Amino acid sequence: MLPNGQRLGAHLPLATGMVRAADRAAAIGASAIQVFVDNPTSWRRRPGLPAELPAFRDRLAHHGIAPVSVHAPYLVNLAAPADEVWVRSVELLTSELRVAAAYGAAFVNVHIGSHRGSGVDTGIARLAKGLLRVVEHAGTAGDSVLVVLENGSGAGFGLGTTPGELGAIDRAATAIGVPRDRLGFCLDTAHLWAAGHDVGSLEGADAVLAAFDAQVGLDRLRMVHLNDSRSGMGTGSDRHEHLGGGRIGIGGLARFLQHPDLGHVTYILETPGMEEGWDEVNLARARDLAAGRPLAALPPSAFDTRSARGRSAPPEADAPADVS
Ligand SMILES: [Zn+2]
Ligand SMILES: [Zn+2]
Repeated sequence: MLPNGQRLGAHLPLATGMVRAADRAAAIGASAIQVFVDNPTSWRRRPGLPAELPAFRDRLAHHGIAPVSVHAPYLVNLAAPADEVWVRSVELLTSELRVAAAYGAAFVNVHIGSHRGSGVDTGIARLAKGLLRVVEHAGTAGDSVLVVLENGSGAGFGLGTTPGELGAIDRAATAIGVPRDRLGFCLDTAHLWAAGHDVGSLEGADAVLAAFDAQVGLDRLRMVHLNDSRSGMGTGSDRHEHLGGGRIGIGGLARFLQHPDLGHVTYILETPGMEEGWDEVNLARARDLAAGRPLAALPPSAFDTRSARGRSAPPEADAPADVS
């Protein structure tokens, strides 16, 4: 836990064992966790639930790790103009909500998606309709699991790249009947940066959070994906980096952790090299930032291309360019 009482965790792989992932989360001092429940780049879902799931839930409870966030597949695009993609996206996200409920997860985190050239207003209307359909179809699963919309990085026709668009999305969803308490938001600092928001300074972070508060309300901000970035501000390029090792200034990243109105927020790291020990390093760095301590220099091996781009690439590195 952080000084303001927030939960802090990381996106950890389950492929090498679910119980092992829960134990790893505890070992690195995480108080929350984010996972994929299946292949994030496939429409196909495995039938049934993993045999290890009850043991996974027991281990998380034993370690006091909560909330669990399920990151939906990148293919989901509720703003898609094509009916086939839209219908499949509704079905896939509905399935994720049901599986997330079985995992005891509090959140299903989903990228806001791309209007693919159909226009912002059309895309937002499609998205709102899709969210309503998902919440209706998920039934009681949707009562316990919040759909958490993640801000876009400004690539291609991606939506939700500004507080104004996030507000428009929220109002459109509410207007057609999506209950406000079924929908939350996630701000990814690397996406804000890529979309042109200067979140590298205290003032820049405060400005974005104030604009989000005016448009949506900070009470609806449920998660922050705390990532540094290898890309330039406003480039639309989303390449996650170790905290303090990228181009976003640490003053801004620290402010996201220290902001007095974010005590209810869960922080999830999606930084590189989770399977190679950098999960522990970045969690410690996040705690240092939260406490106002200086960050140690990262060794050159932190930027080794295998760490940054290999199997342990950041969870969103493989996302299609216009929906990340
Ligand atoms: Zn993210
Ligand atoms: Zn990202």
